[in-house]
Amino acid sequence: MSTEPLLDIENVEAGYGETKVLRELSLSVQEGEIVSLVGRNGAGKTTTLRSIVGIISPTSGTITYRGADITDLDATETVQQGLAFVPEERQIFPELTVKENLELADYGGAPDVDSFSIGEALEMFENLKERASNPGSSLSGGEQQMLAIARALVGGADLILLDEPTEGLAPYIVQDVMDIVEELNERGITILLVEQNVHVCLELADRNYLIDQGEIVYEGTSAELEANEEILDKYLGVT
Ligand code: ATP
Repeated sequence: MSTEPLLDIENVEAGYGETKVLRELSLSVQEGEIVSLVGRNGAGKTTTLRSIVGIISPTSGTITYRGADITDLDATETVQQGLAFVPEERQIFPELTVKENLELADYGGAPDVDSFSIGEALEMFENLKERASNPGSSLSGGEQQMLAIARALVGGADLILLDEPTEGLAPYIVQDVMDIVEELNERGITILLVEQNVHVCLELADRNYLIDQGEIVYEGTSAELEANEEILDKYLGVT
């Protein structure tokens, strides 16, 4: 494994107007890893992802991707670098078909990244293949999540930032989404996963960062976090 992280966040502070949300937040993701950012509602998880992809600008600190400073890039520029943000609300186009949703995402991404063709993406997501001509609005919550992930693949992502992909899904669909995340990772996609559900993190992630009130308060492998009842209880209330 290379020692230089794929994504490196150093002492980032960010927020909304006068409201400071992230406080000297640092985390890193190595190529090929699944890393989770886990924390309670309102802890700053989505704000972290928004800062990375350039939807909001950090007020201080640096974010580097493949060694290049991306702190001040906006959201269209980070997509070009190979980063894809799959937001919690998924943001698919409900009036367009599944295939049309994928065609809109097919704009190339990073020049040196092999993006998935629409056909390859549909092969990976059996449910979507069957519904390729159906409108986005006809998909279930789990299928919409898969379409949002498929769009990121077709768009040429090599780091996918997933914001609570299991939120609001029935338990058997949660497992399907987790299987997809594992398969993506096996195919070489690096994942930064934001979750409130620590069980999903423990099952999927190589390493976990725990965020509380905009600060990283713990970092550990899934085995370490699972064994740390004090931390689980204090920050997540799940022992
Ligand atoms: P959730 O699971 O609720 O999304 P989160 O950990 O992702 O939680 P954030 O969405 O990053 O948390 O929110 C962190 C803080 O920033 C919260 O106090 C929230 O109210 C505030 N916040 C989020 N978005 C905005 C915004 N657009 N304007 C002002 N404050 C915001």
